[in-house]
Amino acid sequence: MMKRDGHIHTPFCPHGSRDTLEEYITKAINNNFSEITFTEHAPLPKGFIDPTPEQDSGMSLAQLTPYFEQLQKLKAKYKEQIIINIGLEVDYIVGFEQQTRDFLNSVGHLLDDAILSVHFLQHDNAYTCIDFSDEVYLHFAEQVGGIAQMYQLYYDTVKQSILADLGPYKPKRIGHPTLIHKFQLAHNETIDDHAQIHAVLQLMKEHHYELDFNSAGLSKTFCQEPYPNYEYAAYAKQLGIPIIFGSDAHTANDLHQHFQTLQQKLLF
Ligand code: ZN
Ligand code: FE
Repeated sequence: MMKRDGHIHTPFCPHGSRDTLEEYITKAINNNFSEITFTEHAPLPKGFIDPTPEQDSGMSLAQLTPYFEQLQKLKAKYKEQIIINIGLEVDYIVGFEQQTRDFLNSVGHLLDDAILSVHFLQHDNAYTCIDFSDEVYLHFAEQVGGIAQMYQLYYDTVKQSILADLGPYKPKRIGHPTLIHKFQLAHNETIDDHAQIHAVLQLMKEHHYELDFNSAGLSKTFCQEPYPNYEYAAYAKQLGIPIIFGSDAHTANDLHQHFQTLQQKLLF
């Protein structure tokens, strides 16, 4: 069984830890992983103002060259022991498709692998980072008219991300497509989003995207399930969508978090 972790952050993440790239790599080798992808948050598109308090959702453009250079060196250094893919987690932001396409066209040739994720939702010409905190999430739900409306907006945005023309280097994998569940235990509503999740997965299948089966949610107090949960991951598998485990680690300690659990549930 080939062990792969396709979603890993790095010291280049401004909201992450300073754990070194080599700490992640050595841990992956020691745990018999044969392939990993570093997917740092790409610089946010030109002109986009990061709504988070520290404006630290993505790495700065100035860090991009050192990021690629360090990974290229380590990829070569460890090539006998592990496949290291150089990647990015790219944000899909409604209204910034052109800038995102331009960015991907400029760096795409340096990428082995990448993830396309929705973290920002647009409402009334403003953007909110919905996975920032339970307060931000609940406040945003109020702004859009309720929890169900917020879920709808999230899934609509994920669908747009699947359909968006981001050029030849558009990522092939959709990141954590149920991230809107991150604070599901912080609201007291029962939301039936079954049909919406099925529709997202069907669209991914139709357009040949891979699934980032992301374990980070299991460790989040208000989530307690992976993104997507086992039921929907099983549905993705049934559809024939390639399923790529992702720990979404922002520390070496979290690397491969819950790998065994997810693997046992799904046998990917
Ligand atoms: Zn992050
Ligand atoms: Fe993400």
